[in-house]
Amino acid sequence: MEDEKKIPSVMLTGDRPTGKLHIGHYVGSLRERVALQNEGAFDEMYIMIADTQALTDNAGNIQKVRDNVIEVALDYLAAGIDPTKVTLFVQSRVPELFELTCYFMDLVTYSRLVRNPTVKSELAVREFGESIPVGFLTYPISQAADILAFGATVIPAGEDQAPMIEQAAEIAHKFNVTYKEVFPEPKILLPKNAVCRRLPGTDGKLKMSKSVGNCIYLSDDAKTVEKKVMSMFTDPTHLRPEDPGHTEGNPVFQYLEAFGCDEHFQKYDTGFASLTEMEEKYRAGGLGDVAVKKFLAFVLNDTLEPMRIKRRDYESRIADVYAILEEGSRKAEEKARSIALRARRAMGIDYFENKKFIEKQQKAFKRAHEQADAYAAYLAKQGK
Ligand code: ATP
Ligand code: MG
Repeated sequence: MEDEKKIPSVMLTGDRPTGKLHIGHYVGSLRERVALQNEGAFDEMYIMIADTQALTDNAGNIQKVRDNVIEVALDYLAAGIDPTKVTLFVQSRVPELFELTCYFMDLVTYSRLVRNPTVKSELAVREFGESIPVGFLTYPISQAADILAFGATVIPAGEDQAPMIEQAAEIAHKFNVTYKEVFPEPKILLPKNAVCRRLPGTDGKLKMSKSVGNCIYLSDDAKTVEKKVMSMFTDPTHLRPEDPGHTEGNPVFQYLEAFGCDEHFQKYDTGFASLTEMEEKYRAGGLGDVAVKKFLAFVLNDTLEPMRIKRRDYESRIADVYAILEEGSRKAEEKARSIALRARRAMGIDYFENKKFIEKQQKAFKRAHEQADAYAAYLAKQGK
């Protein structure tokens, strides 16, 4: 009996197919997903390729979105996502998500929507001016539907997603108190290491982001990674190797920290035993950016090489990858369908599924007819 009542622990997360995945995605969320999958930490795990969400700011660029669905899927598989343990699916293939989005839209005010800090900062980057697509503005609501449609409790994501998950939890709460308890309130799972929560771009900008183009992609080849690293932004006050430098806010050191490079100090001769030692030397002066960058390129390439090999294998059987997504989308729809039905039941709009309600209404009509007939008979008797 106890078991029947137990709410399953469900992880859900996803990415927009607006480009290949980059190392910010990896340290911010993907690495954690693979670890959680391997630990068997959840009853159910879902990873969604958010193509509908990508269309909210790419409606005129369908080819970009379509082409990147497969790229993102390849990145997942290359990074170690196992489709036998995780349901990998495509957002647009699960119509219940749009159904729930509509119901949730009535539970959120316009002013709450435009106050969402992630939406605000993303609007600033995208420069829509007066022409903001309604779908873009409302995507926090559809994202809430993506999460709640699976009864997800945990969302591994980067820091930029915190306001989104908060809003999804608010919507769950509002639904539960307006109708009936259906949705658990989801929580974000941020990386333990603060630097991984928002990895900066190679240009030193606050966030590595596909839309900005300051990324090192998981599928970049070794030479490209080296080239990108060698031209990375570092400490602008550190002009010559002998100058004292700053490690704080320096993306080269932030990447080293994010990738947890201590074991690489044994593999690659830097003359230092740990990152702390290397940082101390950089701050004191006497360590050039080129040496640190070469080490970073080594660390990144060492981590990315097994993914490149795996990706190449999947790239040679694209039909299999689509089959994985198709099967995942079918499974995802099955789950979302059962939760959408629970939502309709809670709202009382389960017109066709609720036999008891139909019987009750039938009885009410019967009673009304009987009363009307009785009254008509009474009037007739009175001769009126
Ligand atoms: P877009 O610019 O199209 O929004 P994006 O690069 O921001 O793309 P998303 O698909 O929006 O990527 O984000 C997917 C996931 O990766 C989210 O959980 C997000 O928090 C995380 N993420 C994205 N960029 C970073 C980053 N630079 N550092 C840490 N996590 C990140
Ligand atoms: Mg984003």
